[in-house]
Amino acid sequence: MLGCVPSSPPRPRRPWVPRHVRITRSAADLPHTAEIVRRCEAAGVSDIEIERGDRLTGLRRAGERETYARAKQTLAVVVAPPSLLRPQPIPPSADWRIDLARGCPAHCQYCYLAGSLTGPPLTRVHANLDAVLAEIPAHAGQGHVTSGTAERGHEGTTFELSCYTDPLGIEHVTGSLSEAIARAGRGELGEEVSLRFTTKFDDVAPLLALEHGRRTRVRVSVNAAGVAGRFEGGTAPVAARLAALRSLGLAGYRLGLTIAPVMPVPGWREEYGTLLDLAAAELADVPDLDLTAELITHRFTPGSKEVQLQWYPGTKLDMDEEQRSEKRSKFGGVKFVYRRDEMAQLKAWFTTELGRRLPDARILYWT
Ligand code: SF4
Repeated sequence: MLGCVPSSPPRPRRPWVPRHVRITRSAADLPHTAEIVRRCEAAGVSDIEIERGDRLTGLRRAGERETYARAKQTLAVVVAPPSLLRPQPIPPSADWRIDLARGCPAHCQYCYLAGSLTGPPLTRVHANLDAVLAEIPAHAGQGHVTSGTAERGHEGTTFELSCYTDPLGIEHVTGSLSEAIARAGRGELGEEVSLRFTTKFDDVAPLLALEHGRRTRVRVSVNAAGVAGRFEGGTAPVAARLAALRSLGLAGYRLGLTIAPVMPVPGWREEYGTLLDLAAAELADVPDLDLTAELITHRFTPGSKEVQLQWYPGTKLDMDEEQRSEKRSKFGGVKFVYRRDEMAQLKAWFTTELGRRLPDARILYWT
């Protein structure tokens, strides 16, 4: 229903500002740390401290809720160790994953970071940005998802920036994302490489004037109203994310929709139909539109469920193992996905309706 399309772009929400900034000893003297501190001070953060060593202290509070709340208000500035610098394959999204940061200040109740990052959920930004980005030219030309493939070879060697964080959600206090985009745009990271990230935020103003050289694809992560409204605390409204995507398209970026996690909530066809119509309306006048779509159904693991129930004890998120199929990874891990018949219905609907409502969108994968 296009009645939902806002007549003027929604005003960007106030970006997240940490209450506490903790800097490890090793990170303290790095030039990117000075930039992060400058940005945090400009955003009004007064509690900025340098740790005595490289261990972050005082993260645990009296109870789980207090620990969670404190962590979500904390930005740690750390040096990524060599083990985290090495890019990891990240199919089906990209050839490689690199991490500008790990952790995210938002409160999405289904977030898979609950199962993949351990400890209190603070955001750790990597102060050794030069070392993180130096891995990109070192891996150019290698990879199995896009590099040299018939379907996606034109994207070059791809580097995913949003595997363990939402880089736009913390950009105004870190500056890491703009730096990466600008260096890629100037060709400093290699001629045949491209960056990609997805976001649930909308403050794209800092990205619009960058010399991105069309070497970065920005996707917005969007969902049906019944999912976004209930489970995505601390993020920008979906309409604002789509308006931001349009602005990025007008600034020449390659674009994408990450529809995730797809959930067969009551009325899902109507709700996702409304979402696709809204996206189509926003992108209708973007010149040279290069649009992809990635479709990811909801899944959970025993570990992620346990953490999510601790963090969000009243959640209405459906995590009933009885209603799901078990999927085993090659390393023996278990995840619970929708049953085969439900998956088939969802996939058929999205394939048809994306083709009908957003014919320019290339579906990269369904999972
Ligand atoms: S915005 Fe993304 S990374 Fe952040 S909490 Fe939500 S799902 Fe997780």
